[in-house]
Amino acid sequence: MRGRGKLFVISGPSGSGKSTLLAEVFEKLDNEYFSVSATTRKPRPGEKNGVNYLFKNREEFEAMIDNGEFLEYTEYAGNYYGTPAEPIIRHLNEGKDIFLDVEVIGALKIREKMPEAVLIFAVPPTFSELEHRLRKRSTESEQKIRERLETARSEYKKASEYDYIVITGKPGTACSEIISIVTAEKCKLIEREYLLREA
Ligand code: 5GP
Repeated sequence: MRGRGKLFVISGPSGSGKSTLLAEVFEKLDNEYFSVSATTRKPRPGEKNGVNYLFKNREEFEAMIDNGEFLEYTEYAGNYYGTPAEPIIRHLNEGKDIFLDVEVIGALKIREKMPEAVLIFAVPPTFSELEHRLRKRSTESEQKIRERLETARSEYKKASEYDYIVITGKPGTACSEIISIVTAEKCKLIEREYLLREA
């Protein structure tokens, strides 16, 4: 018996390795839907419209807000980001599990609307490792790096409301943690109670 799908919301600070992790999870799972967010940020090299994001200008994004098209949206680092509601509802009703990659404010808005959502926070093994990663990969100014670290600190504070924390860094480890979470969530009594009714 296939019930409704489950919603998994993944957040993590810039430099946490969340994008690499999600790409790995995407490869491993096959009955899942990875939500494509809308954003007003400009595409980075290699990013494709409709694959990485739905790239919109501000007027288009604001029209989507006015039409009530978002499950949640927020402004982050000067750009809008939002989760289109329709594909989420449709895929959940079809029994598909869904992954969302959203920052913490959006994740907590989803938790309010859909308390059954599973919230996962991805972090490196230590905060100094995060700082190290930001410095290593970044061509940005010291000021920008400090801003990112400050944002990360406030994200860590809000993460106490999450259900799970996965540790990124070693290839494969965080991915198998996520797959374990998905498996455990699907074995919960509430998901499998129908098996007891047969007795
Ligand atoms: P980036 O610009 O690096 O792709 O994403 C910046 C941040 O926006 C990341 O923390 C990412 O999780 C978050 N984000 C991406 N899509 C959404 C969305 O639909 N809603 C919210 N609230 N955050 C999002």
